Amino acid sequence: MNMEQTIAINGRTYQWMKGPTVVVCCDGCQYEYISEAIAAGVAPFLSNVLSNGSSLMADCVVPAFTNPNNMSIVTGTPPAVHGICGNYFFDRDTGEEVMMNDPKYMRAGTILAAFADAGARVAVVTAKDKLRRLLGHKLKGICFSAEKADEASIAENGIENVLDLVGMPVPSVYSAELSEFVFAAGAKLMERDDRPDLMYLSTTDYVQHKAAPGTAEANAFYGMVDRYLARLDALGATIVFTADHGMNAKHDKDGRPNVIYLQDILDDAIGQGLVRVILPITDPYVVHHGALGSFATIYVPSEKIRQDVISTLTKIKGVELAIGRSDACSWFELPPDRVGDIVVISQKDYVLGTSVERHDLSELKAPLRSHGGLSEQAVPILINRRIPEEATNRRLRNFDAFDLALNHSR
Ligand SMILES: [Zn+2]
Repeated sequence: MNMEQTIAINGRTYQWMKGPTVVVCCDGCQYEYISEAIAAGVAPFLSNVLSNGSSLMADCVVPAFTNPNNMSIVTGTPPAVHGICGNYFFDRDTGEEVMMNDPKYMRAGTILAAFADAGARVAVVTAKDKLRRLLGHKLKGICFSAEKADEASIAENGIENVLDLVGMPVPSVYSAELSEFVFAAGAKLMERDDRPDLMYLSTTDYVQHKAAPGTAEANAFYGMVDRYLARLDALGATIVFTADHGMNAKHDKDGRPNVIYLQDILDDAIGQGLVRVILPITDPYVVHHGALGSFATIYVPSEKIRQDVISTLTKIKGVELAIGRSDACSWFELPPDRVGDIVVISQKDYVLGTSVERHDLSELKAPLRSHGGLSEQAVPILINRRIPEEATNRRLRNFDAFDLALNHSR
């Protein structure tokens, strides 16, 4: 390997890194979390990045969910290419609703694996284990989750004794510490003699689902993030900090969630059980959002019903968009075989549910905050290097993160 080498993958080309390079995906990082933390004086490093590095905004992938966006960032492509368009989908082939977190659903390789194959030392640390196997697909390097850090082995994760390295116990899956563990591990890895050439850190949005920008809890979180970023910066790393999606309040002024229960509405309007509503946010960890997001997809048995459903939906308060599959797949660059006949997106302060009885909201301890729709599409891209203007006068996507890090950072 040498500095002149480039890596071509998924139709894009990436220059070999000039020094250690870190891409951070901060889960649910609406820009206001950064600006409020800086205003509160708890994020001096990020404040310095705004003045002396690059502060950009980019569009994430819709559905504005975690897995589709993480996979877009690490492949440099939209879901139409890599195939992951939710946590959960209805498999037409088997007639079953299934999780989409198995690497067998991936249709593109990752930038991380391509660099590792070419000889780069690559490390990936993610908060939840559900993402680890997707991010680590065919990766010859280090890849582990904070959630299962105690189980990391050379054979499975390319590293062992992670708890000794990081100096933290395994955090609860519902905690700010789960994300802190990711940063702490990243800093420790970067301090080793065999430090990574390329590292990807991906956190979880537990805090962002609970705490609005500028609150004490949010500022404490971003203060923590700021300290670790400063450490990575001091180690000479080029850092590109972005997000998988934004995050917005989804409740009324009394704190009650604004939920549109699509299955109930359509059962009444169209006929009991005629259509199938799928919420791609659904995953095993729903305590902090009750499986309520701003994106849903609907399967219908006929063209007539499809038109009836769309006209029903467009009249509902809080629905921003109800469109057919082909429009949705071309606008949002989604894989048509994994999207229903209709895509529904709710407005900024609304979420979409299936039926009242299928959502357990008893565990929601704070007024609902969530994501998934167009209102959560704008995310920050902060870089501790100057990016020339000619590299940014395009519609930037969060999945340009590696392009900015490797091809344009000075
Ligand atoms: Zn997320």
